[in-house]
Amino acid sequence: MQAVVNKIIPFSAVDGPGNRSVVFLQGCNLDCKYCHNPETRAVCIHCGNCVKACQSGALKTEQGKVFYDEEKCIRCDACIRVCPHDSTPKTKVMSPLEVFHLIQKQIPFISGITVSGGECTLYQAFIEELFILCQSAGLTTMIDSNGMFDFSGSGELLKVTDGVMLDIKAFDEKQHIEVTGAENKQILHNAVLLAECGKLYEVRTVVVPGLFDAKETIQRTGKLLKPYLTLKDIRYKIIAYRPMGVRKAYAHYEVPDQKYLKSLELLLREEGFQNIIII
Ligand code: SF4
Ligand code: SF4
Repeated sequence: MQAVVNKIIPFSAVDGPGNRSVVFLQGCNLDCKYCHNPETRAVCIHCGNCVKACQSGALKTEQGKVFYDEEKCIRCDACIRVCPHDSTPKTKVMSPLEVFHLIQKQIPFISGITVSGGECTLYQAFIEELFILCQSAGLTTMIDSNGMFDFSGSGELLKVTDGVMLDIKAFDEKQHIEVTGAENKQILHNAVLLAECGKLYEVRTVVVPGLFDAKETIQRTGKLLKPYLTLKDIRYKIIAYRPMGVRKAYAHYEVPDQKYLKSLELLLREEGFQNIIII
């Protein structure tokens, strides 16, 4: 029932409706070429490589495990730069109750909590328990997911989740494999399932010219979800690729221009989407 927590942001206005606390969990089951937080992809395997890179004494190895001292950390990120496993030593194993106690302090100032990652659904039982605690305190609960999790078999999780923000990284399966290393049947299935039950709060597509066909992805996703727009206003976030934080091998892609992004917005408007954000 514990999760590896990368960080907790007390206030965010961009991770769901209203002002929210956001919990980022460590580890992911996709390998997106444009990932801008590659250090969240894997859980630390305690190889010890990063310990000597830390100049402030915030890292030490004891009995084959790397320990992190937040007090001594000067946030230089040298440890992340030398990690060969797309990980970070700056994580904490926490229970849902421990996370809730941290979030509790913000309750007067937030409308809810969002759990993100990495891929947060790798910790289903943890999220379920955390959301039960949050809902009983009057907070709304949102999941930010890459959609690889089977929401149809999620049991209690969907019941205690108010909304999901779902990535559709490419509509065509071959292109999706090229972008992420994995098929997308489950993701598209989730998009429909969540839209049907009114829990699809937002869909996001990162636009990376030259990597996949964003026009096709946005057009086909728009058509797929069009029938459900009358049930609930689904927001579509069109995100421009930016090379910041991206691994060297994949940092060469072109940044899309506003004209192109606007043309993608128009495709969604033609399908009936009204709530579209370009960032
Ligand atoms: S963070 Fe990376 S380099 Fe440091 S111990 Fe963990 S796996 Fe090794
Ligand atoms: S960011 Fe990493 S390397 Fe830098 S001080 Fe903190 S633990 Fe050490």
